[in-house]
Amino acid sequence: MKITANDPSRKSWLKVKKNSDFPIQNIPFGVFLTKEDIITIGSRIGDYAIDLTAMHQLGYFEGIPLTDDIFMQDSLNDFIADGRITWRLVRNRIADIFDAENPKLKNHNKHRENIIFDIDDVEMLLPVDICDYTDFYSSREHAENVGKMFFNSENNLPLNWLHMPLAYHGRSSSVVVSGKNIRRPHGQMKPAGKDTPVFGPSKLVDFEVEIGFITTDGNKLGKQISVEEAGEYIFGMVLLNDWSARDIQAFESSPLGPFASKNFATSISPWIVTMDALQSFRTEHVVQKPEPFPYLQQEGKNSYDIQIEAAIKPKKQKETVVCNTNFKYLYWTMYQQLAHHTINGCNVRTGDLFGSGTISGPKKNNYGSLLELSWKGTKPVKLKDGSERRFLEDGDSVILRGFCKNDKIRIGFGECKARLRKAKYSGK
Ligand code: MN
Repeated sequence: MKITANDPSRKSWLKVKKNSDFPIQNIPFGVFLTKEDIITIGSRIGDYAIDLTAMHQLGYFEGIPLTDDIFMQDSLNDFIADGRITWRLVRNRIADIFDAENPKLKNHNKHRENIIFDIDDVEMLLPVDICDYTDFYSSREHAENVGKMFFNSENNLPLNWLHMPLAYHGRSSSVVVSGKNIRRPHGQMKPAGKDTPVFGPSKLVDFEVEIGFITTDGNKLGKQISVEEAGEYIFGMVLLNDWSARDIQAFESSPLGPFASKNFATSISPWIVTMDALQSFRTEHVVQKPEPFPYLQQEGKNSYDIQIEAAIKPKKQKETVVCNTNFKYLYWTMYQQLAHHTINGCNVRTGDLFGSGTISGPKKNNYGSLLELSWKGTKPVKLKDGSERRFLEDGDSVILRGFCKNDKIRIGFGECKARLRKAKYSGK
């Protein structure tokens, strides 16, 4: 099916600012709460939120097989479960209704009032009822930096790293939408040179710049998803901040990997940008040596050129961009991640979230965490207000932004933003 929504020459009758992340070619999906306290699935063009429940009720999706309440939901799960053909039909139709050449809704003031809201008048909610959450470790530069800092070896990748996309199973219950503030966690840490741990608030809270993807039902338990067909099961992508307490992580991670250092919070951006919208930004993936096993081999353009930045904004101060990186730096692709995740028969379900792992690149300003930017706290990062950061301080907001751009269009993700609040503990 042709993805007519992607036509770069298309213009909308809704006003879209130059350099907006949300031109009519984007048509992302999200869930929002209106001023009238109604929750609906929606889309966005420019700075307007589009109520898809209202559009559906007023007949604008006529001819597309959709249940009556498909958009009258507090999550996108049912819509995502409908599969790729439905996503495409709906996206194409939204583009058609808001096309500058189409007067149908444009000239219907009553309908416009019901369907279109100012983006500032809606509250964005978590777009998906997150099913399972897996976080990969797919940036070679990030893995090498961690190797250099903690294992101090020249050959600093673990033996398995170049053979498969490594990951750990994360926690879905604490995935929150951008805008929800995060509490500095308590836990156990072992101060350097001491033999016994201490308990208290983490002193080394960090962010991780990642992109997450969300799937539809892929395979039954015991079956696999091949690297070639993996793309059919990926609905779209979000910006993801995998908050990390480095001191808790250092003490707990051996032998089983991260647990309480990661599962206190994960932030995602509210608009899911579909893989369809990102199609023209596919790019070659990193050359892989040694050649992986056949089940991980793929041809063509399997990565995406997505520019990502991370900024720190101290309370009541201006923000400082501390990292500029790109999704294309990742060593393992999403398709390889899904193929590897299911090679043992593990099933993937609608609403599953997969994090890329911290996205670092070859240059120092490409590093996707403060751990790397401050090199384990030895090289503090300077902020515009004159202060320095080794790790995050109470009141700091972390803002991730991401977009793709070519000479015709720009497709963006908006922001993933959250503030770190001071620790709070009521126990003994
Ligand atoms: Mn991570």
